[in-house]
Amino acid sequence: MLTPADADLLIGQNLQCLPIESLPLAQCAGAVLRENIYAERDQPPFDRVAMDGVALASHTPAASLRIQATQAAGDAPLTLTGRGQCIEVMTGAVLPAGCDCVVPVEEYAVTGGGVTFAPGTRIEAWRNVHRRGSDTRQGTLLVAAGARLRAPEIAIAASAGMARIRVSSQPMLAVISTGNELVEPGEPVLAHQIRRSNVYAIVSALREHGFQRVADEHLRDDAAEMHERLHFHLETHDVLVLSGGVSAGRFDLVPAVLQELGVREVFHHVAQRPGKPLWFGVAPSGAAVFGLPGNPVSSLVCYTRYVLPALLGSLGHSGRPPERIALGAPVKIGAPLTHFMPVRLEQDDWGRPWAQPAPTNGSGDFTALAGTDGFVELPPGPNTYPKGHVTRFYRWS
Ligand code: AMP
Ligand code: MG
Repeated sequence: MLTPADADLLIGQNLQCLPIESLPLAQCAGAVLRENIYAERDQPPFDRVAMDGVALASHTPAASLRIQATQAAGDAPLTLTGRGQCIEVMTGAVLPAGCDCVVPVEEYAVTGGGVTFAPGTRIEAWRNVHRRGSDTRQGTLLVAAGARLRAPEIAIAASAGMARIRVSSQPMLAVISTGNELVEPGEPVLAHQIRRSNVYAIVSALREHGFQRVADEHLRDDAAEMHERLHFHLETHDVLVLSGGVSAGRFDLVPAVLQELGVREVFHHVAQRPGKPLWFGVAPSGAAVFGLPGNPVSSLVCYTRYVLPALLGSLGHSGRPPERIALGAPVKIGAPLTHFMPVRLEQDDWGRPWAQPAPTNGSGDFTALAGTDGFVELPPGPNTYPKGHVTRFYRWS
């Protein structure tokens, strides 16, 4: 049986990269950048006044100076015309020509048309001047393709003068539950029925990660209905995330229906707990299909462990290395499979984070996930992982 790492590799080999679109800057929050952002100009683009005060020439110090003029941010630069003078300047203004020092307003008194400096005022070259190009030079690579556009990257793109940005298109996603026993929240539920919860969990996780084009549907365990609806979704979506119907029961119809529809099975089953029946395949259209096991813990773990990283990969996201964390208590594992153990993040006395195991009562016990932050991955090997063991950590969001 495949290991989770084998499954990652096969998913990666079978994913399509999403196309690029050009969006107005204001619509790019959370998008994945598909071009490099270079500095449009030196940053700062001119010798920038860094304090409200007076600008003067440091080589002609004097205890008091006459104010020649006032220059605000956005004004074209003035020129200091004579000795014994200074120019009143505001933060963000261009340093007037002939000046190389700004004395802040707190350090002088204004009397008549002049300023008198407090004793000990430092008159030094480049004091309170943010020199042109001291942050970055024109043409410097500021943000590389593959980055996610968060607030800092959006600010940088704006500063580079980009009104539109080339980003990955949002994938068209369909999240589909299967199962005759499932009943919508809000509908009356009979004793032998189950609330439909997996799709709500997965759709909300997708939305938290910025995916907006998410369709949601429910299918009964009926081969003809599944055939017709999955055919439609395969034609109209980039990725299908199915929950349920991939195990060995008589009504676990998903793999057979997908096969009828020409979806090539890439793998079925991964040596892991929970989530062993995980199914993955690719449609003739190129659409990727994830068949997640229906047990709620399995489905959310498999979504977080495989589907989300795959989606980020298809967006061209350069990503971050997986997080790692130390166990806050020993964990005993049974079968020789990779175990995914839900954890709560806590801190030790020195403020270092650790993962406190929060075992569930099996893969159906999703109520135990409340308050957990994600899960750790424990590959087969030792029977007991000691407290302090450092391993991979996956966050729910
Ligand atoms: P299956 O993988 O279809 O055999 O389902 C395994 C278990 O998960 C069964 O107990 C189902 O009732 C339950 N289940 C399947 N889908 C969902 C869902 N969308 N929400 C909640 N429970 C589900
Ligand atoms: Mg089912």
